Amino acid sequence: MDIIFDLIEKERQRQTHGIEMIASENFVSDNVMKAMGSVLTNKYAEGYPGKRYYGGCEVVDEVETLAIERAKQLFGVDYVNVQPHSGSQANAAIYLAVLKPGDKIMGMDLSMGGHLTHGSAVNFSGIQYDVVSYGVQQETGLIDYDQMREVALREKPKMLIAGFSAYSRDLDYAKFREVADEIGATLWADIAHPAGLVAKGLLNSPFEHCHVVTTTTHKTLRGPRGGMIMMGKDFENTYGHKTPKGETKMMSQVLDGAVFPGIQGGPLEHVIAGKAVAFGEALDTQFETYAKQVKSNAQALAKAMIDRGFNIVSGGTDNHLMLVDLRNKGVNGKETEKALVLADITCNKNMVPFDDKSPFTTSGIRLGTAAITTRGLKENDMDTIAELISEVVDNIKNEEVLTSVRKKVNELMEGKALFNY
Ligand code: PLP
Repeated sequence: MDIIFDLIEKERQRQTHGIEMIASENFVSDNVMKAMGSVLTNKYAEGYPGKRYYGGCEVVDEVETLAIERAKQLFGVDYVNVQPHSGSQANAAIYLAVLKPGDKIMGMDLSMGGHLTHGSAVNFSGIQYDVVSYGVQQETGLIDYDQMREVALREKPKMLIAGFSAYSRDLDYAKFREVADEIGATLWADIAHPAGLVAKGLLNSPFEHCHVVTTTTHKTLRGPRGGMIMMGKDFENTYGHKTPKGETKMMSQVLDGAVFPGIQGGPLEHVIAGKAVAFGEALDTQFETYAKQVKSNAQALAKAMIDRGFNIVSGGTDNHLMLVDLRNKGVNGKETEKALVLADITCNKNMVPFDDKSPFTTSGIRLGTAAITTRGLKENDMDTIAELISEVVDNIKNEEVLTSVRKKVNELMEGKALFNY
């Protein structure tokens, strides 16, 4: 047997024994994995259902159509493209559809909670476009909508981005839209992180306000790794889109063309099948219970952390994640991430707003509850987890303590399947 399968088993053990707190991760069902590991991986299908550049696409046409229809139903939207291989590629397609290289964009600063693809200098978005950004208020940790409007009116970006990778509060999409309308900008929401909660109406909906919406499918949405583009109710009809070349086209046509042939070749139909399975699961009422539990767990964890003297940026969470500012604890994000890994608790170091440390060191960690909720953990477990994290932080260089915390972590997770909700 190929050694790769030993490594896969080793990784399964790691995932099973540990507490997974990475906010962007989750555990998919066996059915999602079955779809991804299927013969659909053998098929080339450039194009879209009914309009392919290869023969033999009758079956994958049905697969892709099902994925699209389920996503439309789940989010209540009119247009969906399920082909983007990743969140970043869904985002790249938005840039290609809406802008010309050199155009100005405005997103949340990476160091304040934004994503690389929202204009970071090391990403194509920051290399090919002119970037201005908004952030959060130092005192509250909340988005400074007044500052955002002020910069937008002064700089007049062509596209405004509402979305984040590390912000624990809901977004005021109506406010973003007001500002976008004042300057005639396209408003794009990137709901990669909270998509599963948005789908179940547990957070504000971007669809009635934003011209285009992208997401990943593997975070709170609990599907295979991948991306997706959506468009809300009337935008297809009311938003007569001028392409960067000056032609007027339907927005759906422009977006489809931006994904293929714009930035991708053949779609991954096995992953699209996995997306269809995950959307089917998310349509079930069980997923609503799951999504509510993700949110309750995040709130319970934030409270339990605050009770132990941790500073949570903005003082709490509305979604599945939180940023812990470790500066009052005398440790940095890098060493904390490392010590937690030794105790079988996985999370990532993260810059906090107005951080004085580099992205390699950071002053914070980001914690999320999507994955541990799938494993079946509840509010009372959040207190235990906060206590374990606190023990690690207070004993960051003490191997004996880290080993004893690891034992407690393994005991807590013993007998719990990866997919348990
Ligand atoms: N957009 C946001 C807001 C994200 O947080 C992420 C991933 O973390 C992405 C896009 C990119 O997704 P991917 O890693 O699939 O490219």
